[in-house]
Amino acid sequence: MNYDSLLSSIAVLNGTDVSVETIRLPPRSVGEVDIRIDLAAVCGSDIHTILGHRPAPARLALGHEGVGRVVDIDQGTVDLQGAPIAVGDRVVFMMFNKCGECSRCTSGLEMKCNRLMKYGHESVDVPPFATGTIATHVRLLGGVGIRKVPDELPDAAAVATSCAVSTAAAALAAAGSPSFGAKALVVGYGAVGMYCTSMLISAGCAVSVSDPLPARSELAREMGASEDAGGPYAIVIEASGSAAGVQAAFEAVDVGGRVILVGSVSPGNTSITLDPASLVIRRVTVIGVHNYTSSDFNRAVDWLIEEGSTIPTSRVLSPRFTLDTIDEALQEAQTGRYQRVIIDPTGA
Ligand SMILES: [Zn+2]
Ligand SMILES: [Zn+2]
Repeated sequence: MNYDSLLSSIAVLNGTDVSVETIRLPPRSVGEVDIRIDLAAVCGSDIHTILGHRPAPARLALGHEGVGRVVDIDQGTVDLQGAPIAVGDRVVFMMFNKCGECSRCTSGLEMKCNRLMKYGHESVDVPPFATGTIATHVRLLGGVGIRKVPDELPDAAAVATSCAVSTAAAALAAAGSPSFGAKALVVGYGAVGMYCTSMLISAGCAVSVSDPLPARSELAREMGASEDAGGPYAIVIEASGSAAGVQAAFEAVDVGGRVILVGSVSPGNTSITLDPASLVIRRVTVIGVHNYTSSDFNRAVDWLIEEGSTIPTSRVLSPRFTLDTIDEALQEAQTGRYQRVIIDPTGA
């Protein structure tokens, strides 16, 4: 195949308008990997970006969750576990490119690399152009971690790996490897809250979930969580990103406990009034988690392979939309009816 002519149809956000543009990609550089997206998902932070809640370049290539197949790659490329990757392999990938050399990369903060490039956050008019997953093709830079996806892990189970599942794995790491039987509360049962809940249950915790949407609370109970009975809790993971959720998280944590803040990704929308003495006196540890490391991503993929089938994808994922119905998909995503709205860019 002549990759000089690789075309990608990409969902482009310009202001508040989303349109699909077909862009001819230049020849791939050494180290880059071209992926055909089989299934993409709309993350809550895509909606924040569309609604103007955070700064974004004009003509942004939208989307950072997806699973697909390699269409062009250097010979000898390996994934994060050292497995060779070749054309045709199904893969998931991290949502950012890092340099691996700067002070942040070398101190465990690769997601805050001084030369960070984040998929779903970049202009479609500058190299490598195809940086959104809501597209037929995405081009990965050489520093993006990749994992091969085994056949037993379907696209629907793998589609949210690059953000929600890996962020949940990072939140659990911040919770400090919870011990068996520990009482935990998850505030907010969107995709991140759902994966956190299931991972905590896998770790043997007694998990309660609080979410104002009755359908979400009901699903959480069916998945093995109980209703929030008031705590106190050794671990509280705040995944709603609402001021009320953050307030509730601080109130529910036990003496010596940890509050993991993971939902508040939209500056200015989660301000609360806080008396620091309430945390000091209870010896509470508060940790903010934004994105994840390669290790978190690896643990997320491993968890999906072992436990991913416990997630009822037919209920938590929307029906499949296509690039032609992107507007409807984005409207559906704003209802919160599904943990993830999914888009099949191969469909018409
Ligand atoms: Zn995301
Ligand atoms: Zn770096």
